[in-house]
Amino acid sequence: MNFAPLLLAYALPLLALWIVWTVRQRRISARSLAVLEEARAAGLHEPASLHPVIDPALCLGCAACVKACPEHSILGLVDGKARLIEPSHCVGHGACAAACPTNAISLVFGTETRGVDIPLVSPRFETNVPGIFIAGELGGMGLIRNAIEQGRQAIGFMAAKARSMPADDGRLDVLIIGAGPAGIAASLGAMAAGLRFKTIEQYSLGGTVAHFPRGKVVMTAPAELPLVGQVKFGEVSKETLLAFWHKVIGETGLQINAEERVEKIRPEAGGFVVETTRGEHRSKLILLAIGRRGSPRQLGVEGEELDKVVYRLIDAEQYRGRHVLVVGGGDSALEAAGSLAEQDGTTVTLSYRGDAFGRARPKNRQRVEAAIASGQIALHLQSQVTRIAPDHVVLGTTGGQITLPNDDVIICAGGVLPTQFLRDVGIRVETKFGTA
Ligand SMILES: Cc1cc2nc3c(=O)[nH]c(=O)nc-3n(C[C@H](O)[C@H](O)[C@H](O)COP(=O)(O)OP(=O)(O)OC[C@H]3O[C@@H](n4cnc5c(N)ncnc54)[C@H](O)[C@@H]3O)c2cc1C
Repeated sequence: MNFAPLLLAYALPLLALWIVWTVRQRRISARSLAVLEEARAAGLHEPASLHPVIDPALCLGCAACVKACPEHSILGLVDGKARLIEPSHCVGHGACAAACPTNAISLVFGTETRGVDIPLVSPRFETNVPGIFIAGELGGMGLIRNAIEQGRQAIGFMAAKARSMPADDGRLDVLIIGAGPAGIAASLGAMAAGLRFKTIEQYSLGGTVAHFPRGKVVMTAPAELPLVGQVKFGEVSKETLLAFWHKVIGETGLQINAEERVEKIRPEAGGFVVETTRGEHRSKLILLAIGRRGSPRQLGVEGEELDKVVYRLIDAEQYRGRHVLVVGGGDSALEAAGSLAEQDGTTVTLSYRGDAFGRARPKNRQRVEAAIASGQIALHLQSQVTRIAPDHVVLGTTGGQITLPNDDVIICAGGVLPTQFLRDVGIRVETKFGTA
């Protein structure tokens, strides 16, 4: 019997399928590698906190984790195995681990080379400094739902402790620091429990979410908010989530001391004195709900306290027709300069102390380079701001000092992580190097 026609009938389509599959896999792999290389080149190859580690021996390359991740292009397939290709964008959803059919993924804090500092807290959210509690992402667990849950639970333990303390002597029961999801949930819980409390926030309501790019889709699971009840968001835009927080504040009458940054916490008999940019507060108990982004790094130059100095760009359009100085050489600075350069009549100067933009993504570098080439941005590498005045700024450059007319200064010099702040208060912090 001649098997050749039979063989051709089955083998050829199979071969064709195999070729198509192989070409597709190679393309996927090349795309993933390109993303990974770009992240490496921009120095963004270390995850910030909780992230997946994939065991290649167990990974089937089925891409279930890639599809399950609510963020875009965080995981990808390289040579048929899942890899973390955008490590610094991972926010620790953990959906990848849940979706993996072979348990090839574990979630860990930190890497061998980049430790992540996690403060030690008891199951009641209290730190080793009695009276100081921690809720939300600062404690290590990211995500909005976790932050809400922890804020709500922590305030329950704090309310019980506050009631067991000597009666009021003019102090607050609880000072809540931070108005992100954890701080808002705790504040609502404090209201519901009838505590004497204040909530202090260095920027405005919403926490890290307020800094997300415009229109970013936020994934969050249902959570229970004191005085409000169950909130079921699922998938919402950043703007919808922030509008929700504002509605809650409006309906409950919750007061938040915005634009007030806590700088120091000092213990005193029976409580704490909290020093802020606006004065002092005295409280029996403190809840740190400050997340992990920290506070903006300041330049420490004359005039930095002027109102025209800010540490993030919120809306480029508001700078139309103005003289703006952007300081920094990372992605935030380049994104800010690039957006400002697109505004009608805006004069943009970019000052960076380095001699090249080493830690920025190619697309941001290219956008800024194009704007420099077309005269929309004046770039001063190896320069430093030496003085900020109401109507001008002084830059120290390799060619000497120059004075530029100026209406606004946007400093994007990164953040100061809260670790030292915690240590100064006496809170024990453990550095995790890839710990599950
Ligand atoms: C790009 C990105 C995307 C994300 N996407 C999602 C998502 O889709 N779904 C999800 O569930 N989670 C997401 N997350 C994680 C989520 O945003 C955080 O886990 C969550 O906001 C943590 O809440 P928090 O209240 O603990 O801290 P934060 O939201 O960080 O709030 C802390 C607040 O404390 C304030 N603060 C800090 N220091 C001081 C100080 N010294 N004085 C006064 N105030 C201070 C800060 O200004 C801030 O407002 C994402 C995170 C990032 C970075």
